[in-house]
Amino acid sequence: MARKFFVGGNFKMNGSISSIKEIVNNLNKADLDPNTEVVISPPALYLLLVREHLRPEIEVAAQNVFDKPNGAYTGEISVSQLQDSNITWTILGHSERRTILNESDELVASKTKVATEAGVGVIWCCGESLEQREAGKTIEVVSKQLEALKAQISDWSKVVIAYEPIWAIGTGKVATTEQAQEVHKAIRDWLKGVSDKVAEETRILYGGSVNEKNCGELSKQPDIDGFLVGGASLKPAFVDIINAKKQ
Ligand code: PEP
Repeated sequence: MARKFFVGGNFKMNGSISSIKEIVNNLNKADLDPNTEVVISPPALYLLLVREHLRPEIEVAAQNVFDKPNGAYTGEISVSQLQDSNITWTILGHSERRTILNESDELVASKTKVATEAGVGVIWCCGESLEQREAGKTIEVVSKQLEALKAQISDWSKVVIAYEPIWAIGTGKVATTEQAQEVHKAIRDWLKGVSDKVAEETRILYGGSVNEKNCGELSKQPDIDGFLVGGASLKPAFVDIINAKKQ
């Protein structure tokens, strides 16, 4: 089964009602490659607004979700609340949450388990710091993050993996196509330890300073199945990244 190209837009903590409406209007009128699955992820406050105005074939993702069903968890949002609002995806384990909010591999895996078991898709992020890369530990770090996930989930069909080297996020320093392909291949090889089917079918996205200029070359790599895009997802050029395969 061919893996459908996937492009996610992570707005992070950016935007306002008017700027987000502008992004939505831009996407609504754009000519988008029908062979690419597109998911955009505004801040939680704007999820409903985006879902209401966005063309239906583009899905909407939260940037986080909690692993408890309801109750006294101030500031958190549950999986069933996402579903109640027709939000079908969530990003989990973004490096900004892992590092700034100290989310552990185990917590990220637990959230992924709860979301996927309920049928919510997860863009599950992993990646190494510059220090870890320079110490030659990239594959070891990513494998450890994957091991924690494997310990808690059995159904991988709702998981899309985003490999995002931390040193490339928001820095303008994109990984070379060779660096990205090398890690993507290592992730796919690791997935063979789950099953050949999971390795064959799981989409592995690259994230880290993707823009309209570098996306074409990256998209040609055999193990790069799409992108998770931060800064550029707020700009009109996001459409060119969605259409990367046509470049
Ligand atoms: C991200 O936040 O997931 C990301 C990849 O950001 P940027 O594209 O801005 O590097």
